[in-house]
Amino acid sequence: MRLLGLTDWRSGRAADLVLPQAVDSRLIDETGAMSADVDRVDASGLVLAPALVDPHVHLRDPGQTDKEDMVTGTAAAAAGGYGLILLMPNTQPAMDGQARMADGCTVIDYLESYERDHGLSLPVDYALCVAATMDRAGRQASNPNDWSGHLPGHGWAHPVVAISDDGSAVTNQTLEAVAANARAFDLPILDHCEHHEHGQVNLGTISRQLGLEGIPASTETAIINRDIEQAERTGTRVHLQHVSTTGGFEAVRRAKARGLPVTCETAPHYLALCDEDLLRCGSMAKMNPPLRSRADQQAALEAVADGTVDMIATDHAPHTLAEKALGLKDAPNGIVGLETAYAVCNRVLVKSGLISHDRMIELMSLAPAELMGMHRLLPEDLSSHKANRGCKAGHLQLEADRRSDTGQPPVDLVILDPDAKWKVDPSRFHSKARNTPFAGAELSGRVMATIKDGRLVFSRLPASRVITRERI
Ligand SMILES: [Zn+2]
Repeated sequence: MRLLGLTDWRSGRAADLVLPQAVDSRLIDETGAMSADVDRVDASGLVLAPALVDPHVHLRDPGQTDKEDMVTGTAAAAAGGYGLILLMPNTQPAMDGQARMADGCTVIDYLESYERDHGLSLPVDYALCVAATMDRAGRQASNPNDWSGHLPGHGWAHPVVAISDDGSAVTNQTLEAVAANARAFDLPILDHCEHHEHGQVNLGTISRQLGLEGIPASTETAIINRDIEQAERTGTRVHLQHVSTTGGFEAVRRAKARGLPVTCETAPHYLALCDEDLLRCGSMAKMNPPLRSRADQQAALEAVADGTVDMIATDHAPHTLAEKALGLKDAPNGIVGLETAYAVCNRVLVKSGLISHDRMIELMSLAPAELMGMHRLLPEDLSSHKANRGCKAGHLQLEADRRSDTGQPPVDLVILDPDAKWKVDPSRFHSKARNTPFAGAELSGRVMATIKDGRLVFSRLPASRVITRERI
């Protein structure tokens, strides 16, 4: 069986998806309720693709569950077509492998045993990104003795697959030690690549118009250039998070031309919006790095088109409406993104003619999985898989819980309708949070269903397309 390849995947058009005789198939419908015993899905005329993978997600659990928690955050991911997400370490306490929660367990232990301890099954898979420094304070590198036992290969359901101090850049004083840890355990450093002490929005005409302190592009390019130098000098794998500036993309482009071990992501909002949208969206469009100029937005689109951008991450960052009501000056940075990412990218990248739908799936699924070292099974692989033996052409037979019996990659799929038009209504999000600049936006492209490990975990398909066991 072939694992994913970044260059040769093509969208599949599916007829029926025959789901396994799973004991706990569960379906989150549009009301957020779960129902069991889904047997078969009629996906005719829709696009079947590998489930999306997000390498940059904040679910706020533990520590800030008024904003989001594991249940609502993973429901939002499933509704957004994601099968796998990477949890950032800025939990409270920080996910550094050492800091303890009130009950004495570390955040890594808490997240590893979350489903067992809470007696539930979450709809998407997740892996962990350990903090680069103790308590994310930027003073001392985190101790590998505290987390290296959770690397892949030790039998954990939610292994540590990357190292980061998100949402802070790794500090100059700790970079050498953090990079040495990353190399020793073959982990990529995911760097936030944004450092500034002051400022609320991008420096420019808009910041002056709003009377707010501006954040210059150099706050990003300084960290990017520093990290590229580190990658060149030491061979450390560096992944630059949510790159947003013309200079940042250009630096990454040059590093790649020299063959350095550097990858980067950008986020849907840097592709769809610019700082002019602050005038319309206010604090709902406040994030870090800030929405940049219209020229930077264009540079982000060009960097996707020419392959400088390796992948797209949401940086899903839930906040309460009360916090966002503090206004542009005082509201916290960040927006939610899991439930709008596919449609926003489909509109600005595919419907605009910039890239193909298949290439977008590579950016939103295959490349992030590669970064995390967590391979996915492709739809076309299913046709030759043993689980598919004896099936009629056009039918896919999925197998339950394959990892436990075969050790093979999970069958995580998404069913998409690239032409469906819809209007973003945050009150219908599965996320606990509503902080999005896309409220009311008319988008095209809808996630219709998400299949995790052969089980339907989310669907907004019409009832006639979802066949439950009772109705057979
Ligand atoms: Zn982040």
